[in-house]
Amino acid sequence: MSQDAIAQILAYYRDLGIKDIYRRTPTVLPSASQPAAKPALPPPPPQPTPQSLPTPQSLSAPQSLQSRGREGAVLLPPELPTMAPANDTLEKIIADIGDCRRCRLCEARNKIVFGSGNPNTKIVFVGEGPGEDEDIQGLPFVGRAGQLLTAMIDNTAKKEGIPITRADVYICNVVKCRPPKNRTPEPDEMEICGQFLFRQLLAIKPKAICALGSTAAKALLGTKDGVMKLRGKWHKWRDIPVMVTYHPSYLLRPYNQNAKRESWEDLKKVLHFVYN
Ligand code: SF4
Repeated sequence: MSQDAIAQILAYYRDLGIKDIYRRTPTVLPSASQPAAKPALPPPPPQPTPQSLPTPQSLSAPQSLQSRGREGAVLLPPELPTMAPANDTLEKIIADIGDCRRCRLCEARNKIVFGSGNPNTKIVFVGEGPGEDEDIQGLPFVGRAGQLLTAMIDNTAKKEGIPITRADVYICNVVKCRPPKNRTPEPDEMEICGQFLFRQLLAIKPKAICALGSTAAKALLGTKDGVMKLRGKWHKWRDIPVMVTYHPSYLLRPYNQNAKRESWEDLKKVLHFVYN
């Protein structure tokens, strides 16, 4: 089976929420002070849930990542910012990210993709991570999936009589740097970069969040459930309602006619909740 075929099958399973098959064997080399029998990476701490909110301490990078990446490459000390400094703003978060090298995703990125849109919006769309086009332009959702998302937002709002376009919402991702070959972000990458997402959400304070795909749902809800189980219902991140729906890239696949209809229903639901 070709690599492309395998990649398509894995992406399909991933969108169904079957993600464990994608896990790779950690290959961190033990340091001289670290016995070989010990695991290279500590187990990821629990994801935040509406009931169990993260603290700045719980969002610190795993100790092993502060000095060593998965392939044994030395990373700069993360020096992670606090969860949400007082009077946080998107500008402060951008300044804190800087030329970020807090996780291994910095190694192959072209541009950090922070997010774009109206910072005073009532709704934030959260995707997984930048793709090739986004990595080149430094903007989220500008490739084929992004064009579909734009059409979905604009057309659904127009049909439902809601006077907004994509320019009125805010769009960002769980991780701000493109994972190599568009692979799914690893849990530690989501944890480290996720705190910037959390700060963005706390700074914007939207009325609702729309999680696009299982990675965004996992980052926000701390769940292992797939999109099919989560979509169409309201969840919460902190006290902000979260609607989960399919990632636009999943909708681009030809066999997903039902998902297209369901995502339209999800979008209608969230737009009416926010703007009516
Ligand atoms: S993905 Fe996030 S934490 Fe990792 S290097 Fe990029 S900006 Fe930094």
